[in-house]
Amino acid sequence: MKILFVGPQGCGKGTQAKVIAEKFNIAHISTGDLLRNATGELKKEVDTYMLTGKLVPDELMLRVLKERISQHDCNKGFILDGYPRNITQAHELDKITRIDKVIEIEISDQESVRRLGGRLSCKNCGAVFNENTHTPKRDMQCDNCDAMLIKRADDTKEAILKRLDIYHSETEPILKHYHSVKINGEQPIDQVTKDIIQALK
Ligand SMILES: [Zn+2]
Repeated sequence: MKILFVGPQGCGKGTQAKVIAEKFNIAHISTGDLLRNATGELKKEVDTYMLTGKLVPDELMLRVLKERISQHDCNKGFILDGYPRNITQAHELDKITRIDKVIEIEISDQESVRRLGGRLSCKNCGAVFNENTHTPKRDMQCDNCDAMLIKRADDTKEAILKRLDIYHSETEPILKHYHSVKINGEQPIDQVTKDIIQALK
């Protein structure tokens, strides 16, 4: 089974993709991991972009993806999480594989802002908390290592809304292209998982 997980930032698709991939014994391919784990000649090419902070071009991304889905652990299928991000990429993806199911995990803009805007991270140990959903025991202090917690600069309301705009205008059109199934991402995590499993049956 070849599945796409689509949804705005903060919808929990990474978490869900991991759980579902384990349950169905298929590979979980997130875009970030994909680029980090490229090997051989492809890795050299990817690194020339990554190391200078430039965006990896679609054409290279697609070659990396093609190589990745040809690996043994993708024999039974895979979940793609974070790709494609626009309709052009979806058309390109269609040329290298056939997608069976597309799951949209929907949360409102308001909820996305609430979840991402409250994010607090520990610079020392990397732990992540949230002012709204997962508060640290002491104000702005890490539960694990006592270091000060910080808000990331790209988690301001303005930056989040800008990313949501891009999601609505560029990523959402791929949902129509594939006839996706919509899941309510504002439910408890376990219920979201159950709904996804139901949709995949
Ligand atoms: Zn810490």
